[in-house]
Amino acid sequence: MTGSNFVVGPGCGQSQPERDLDPPERYNAAGECLEAYYDLTCWTLVQQDAGFVHQHAVDAYAAQHVGERMRPITAVFALIGLYLAVERGYTGRQVQLVHMKIGRRRDWPRLEPPKDRGELTVMDILLAATDAKKEEALMRWTAAVWEAWEDRHRWVRETTEKVQ
Ligand SMILES: [Zn+2]
Repeated sequence: MTGSNFVVGPGCGQSQPERDLDPPERYNAAGECLEAYYDLTCWTLVQQDAGFVHQHAVDAYAAQHVGERMRPITAVFALIGLYLAVERGYTGRQVQLVHMKIGRRRDWPRLEPPKDRGELTVMDILLAATDAKKEEALMRWTAAVWEAWEDRHRWVRETTEKVQ
């Protein structure tokens, strides 16, 4: 590698060409990683699909980049979203409705993130060639991030059943 430096972001661990971007305020991520996430959300939002896959991207990205600066509610909502999507087969739209229903609660605990956040990152979706392959990669990423939070699965399942 001559002439270019790479930055390995915290959270997902994805290595990207360094562009000297500021780190985001709330995500435990490199600025370069957040830019890739914005590219991903451009794709999810133009899908305008009934299932609203965009929600899965929001939840997977947040859960993969939980850190001290993230509000506890963001991490908890992300994990509830991943649980409902991966284990219960909810669409993004259905997850969104649950989030709205439980949105008023404020007393969420701060969750300690796992060291390993799953093998897939935003880049795996961006690099997929077609819309169908991107959606497939998005769902594999969602499942991988959920899997990485294994220590919290029981808490998330129980909490989701309680608050719904
Ligand atoms: Zn990242």
